[in-house]
Order: sequence, then C-alpha cells, then structure tokens
Amino acid sequence: MAVAVYPGSFDPVTYGHFDIIERASSIMDHLIVAVLNNSSKSPLFSVEERVNMLIDVTKHLPNVEVRSFDGLLVDFVRENHAHVIIRGLRAVTDFEYELQLSQTNRVIAPEVDTVFLTTNLKYSYLSSSIVKEIAMYGGDISAFVHPGIAGKIRAKFAGE
Ligand code: ADP
Repeated sequence: MAVAVYPGSFDPVTYGHFDIIERASSIMDHLIVAVLNNSSKSPLFSVEERVNMLIDVTKHLPNVEVRSFDGLLVDFVRENHAHVIIRGLRAVTDFEYELQLSQTNRVIAPEVDTVFLTTNLKYSYLSSSIVKEIAMYGGDISAFVHPGIAGKIRAKFAGE
C-alpha cells in the first residue's frame, strides 16, 4: 500500500493546500495530512483547531487521515509506515528550501522519498500568511479558504 504524509503548519488550511490534498489522495492509497505542532512558531490556530478544520474539509475523501505531530518529520513518517512525503511547490522561492529539506530527509531516512506537486496556477500566490494578513485588515478572504474556515479566521480577529 502506498502511504504518504503531507506535512505542514496549515495555519489555516487554504484552497492551495486543499488542491494538493485532493490530488495527492488520488495518486496514493492512503494520505496522512500531518499538522506540525511547532512550539517555536506562534500560530493563529491551536494544533487541535488546525486538525479539526482539516478533518472538516477532507471528510469526503475516504483515504485521507489528519493527525498532528511534533519532533522529526521522518520519525513520524516511519511510525506510520509511510515511504513518501508530499510537498507543494508554488514558485522558485519555495524550491531552495524544499530541496534542502528533502535532501536532508533522504540522508537521515534513505527509504523515504519526497514527491513534489506543483501548485494549481489558480493558487500559486496563495499562502496561509497572506490570508491572515488580509483578514486582519478586514478584507474578503472568500476566494482563498473554505467558507467555514473564513468564518473561523474572522472570529479570531474579532477576538471571539
Ligand atoms: P510550512 O509551514 O511547512 O511551509 P504550510 O502549511 O505553509 O507549511 O504548507 C505546507 C505545504 O503546502 C508546503 O509544501 C507548501 O509549499 C504547500 N503549499 C502551501 N500553499 C500552497 C499553494 N497555494 N499551492 C500549493 N502548495 C502549497
């Protein structure tokens, strides 16, 4: 069985992430979306909130599972008997970091390979940070995230 892990912060999940999830789930037998519980960053949403939002938008995809992880990504990959890491590539600016990350992971876990899916052109500009910045100033984010997620982002900035 081809099992892959798609890791990220997903703070919060955007249509760009969602596009990668749908496409990766159609080429893999099982896809684990892995939400990084990173204490050094200060995310807008807690790891539980990020996991729940991902569960909500992927509930129609039977071979997709959402989990959180901390520590080394390759350890999580091994614990879940996966051999593939999925990453999305938007522009050349992503490339250098992603190349370094995948080569480092190959040194520490040679049996794990990274597969890159290039972004859907519609979402090549899109990032969670941009969405948060627009929302912070009260802008319309409906083109970037699912309606339920947009409501949650607005509520965060309204201090609810
Ligand atoms: P990280 O904090 O690890 O960069 P993100 O949550 O920002 O995590 O992104 C997770 C993965 O999704 C990364 O591989 C990133 O390149 C990819 N990604 C993010 N936004 C998009 C997008 N709009 N189109 C395609 N891939 C994307």
